[in-house]
Amino acid sequence: MISRVRGTRDILDLKLFNFALQTIKHYVALYHFKQIETPVLEPVELFKRSLGLETDVVSKEMFVVTSSSVEQGEESIALRPEATAATIRAFLEGSIDQVPWKVFSFGPMFRYERPQKGRYRQFYQFNIECIGAASLTQDAQIIAMLDRLFLTQFNLDNYALHINFLGTSQERAHFKATLKLFLDKQTDLCATCLKRKEANILRVFDCKTPVCQNIYTKAPQLLDCLEQESQQEWKTLQEQLKLLSVSFVVNPRLVRGLDYYNKTVFEFVSPDLGAQSAFCGGGRYDSLVSQIGGKVDQPSIGAAIGFDRLLLLLEMISNKLPLPQEPALHVIIPFEGQHSLALLLADTLIKAGLQTEVLCQGSVKTMMSKAHKKGAAYCLILGEQEQQDGTVVIKDMVKGTQETVKQIQAVSVLINR
Ligand code: AMP
Repeated sequence: MISRVRGTRDILDLKLFNFALQTIKHYVALYHFKQIETPVLEPVELFKRSLGLETDVVSKEMFVVTSSSVEQGEESIALRPEATAATIRAFLEGSIDQVPWKVFSFGPMFRYERPQKGRYRQFYQFNIECIGAASLTQDAQIIAMLDRLFLTQFNLDNYALHINFLGTSQERAHFKATLKLFLDKQTDLCATCLKRKEANILRVFDCKTPVCQNIYTKAPQLLDCLEQESQQEWKTLQEQLKLLSVSFVVNPRLVRGLDYYNKTVFEFVSPDLGAQSAFCGGGRYDSLVSQIGGKVDQPSIGAAIGFDRLLLLLEMISNKLPLPQEPALHVIIPFEGQHSLALLLADTLIKAGLQTEVLCQGSVKTMMSKAHKKGAAYCLILGEQEQQDGTVVIKDMVKGTQETVKQIQAVSVLINR
């Protein structure tokens, strides 16, 4: 047997998946976000330029396909690891001039990470971007929108919203230098943190080792390096969130993995997810547009919901969710020789909008038991007698009762039940 690729999964029942997706789409549309689609394949260069060469995603997790042809030479294409850079590319390539451009997209992302619960090599993200929005009021609204979505639309209650403020690039440069001085004096840092200290210093805070975590509780904080303007923005953001009754925790060590973030960053985490606890994350990126090649910068804010992790949370409370009712299933069971009549009858039922399946294998007893296992509401049995009389036997699978009706009346009998 050929097994699926490591870190990927088959989703064989999409009831919860579709419910969650529809709910999010419907909810973000209330905030006037419009759906877009971008390709799964993007130039490797796009991510190198935007996410940062030293980020884990670019340095070791990208799925890259290299193809070469005589005419075009060698081309490196990535299976997209995230959606923000591609959304900006689409914004520039589509010459969008109406800002803020409020869009969302949904689809698979690819990262070559070590698979574990909630961490896959192919995973789904629901991505939301508001491009060309300098005011942090947009940040407050997007964060509040996500919080309301999780709380009121999905009834999630065991999660926390962490927020932090990364300041401007000058403030971060100042902080990085202060942090470097502090870390240089530490003797117990793990090997990963020693590397990150040199390559991508803010990422040291992501370290899970208790010794390092303990050191970082005493480390200087970015929030202390903010200038007056940033301090005011950070204060206003928190006030606006409070105004909207959004509960949050300030996490001064939240930096998030990608280089393009500045000012606001946030993450929704749930202890119910275990080690991979973040199920949504985002932040502001004010210079990504110029990094990708735009002439004018467009300060922006975005977020990605880790859809697989959201589903893990929803599975735990699925009995409390308003999942749509499955439509009643009608199963047609023809005796030997009545298969064509069964096809015609199915055609009529489906035309009338009734979900219908024809069984045409095995004894009537076997087909009845199959229909039962499929959860049929009604079985429509067609024997020789019924064919001669132009009738059909309708068996109510819940009540166990049955009646014989004219075939031409079957639809109206079933619809009126
Ligand atoms: P990021 O694009 O890294 O900011 O991630 C946004 C969200 O996507 C995270 O909070 C996770 O919920 C989800 N996510 C990121 N990487 C993975 C992965 N390998 N498997 C499943 N979900 C992921």
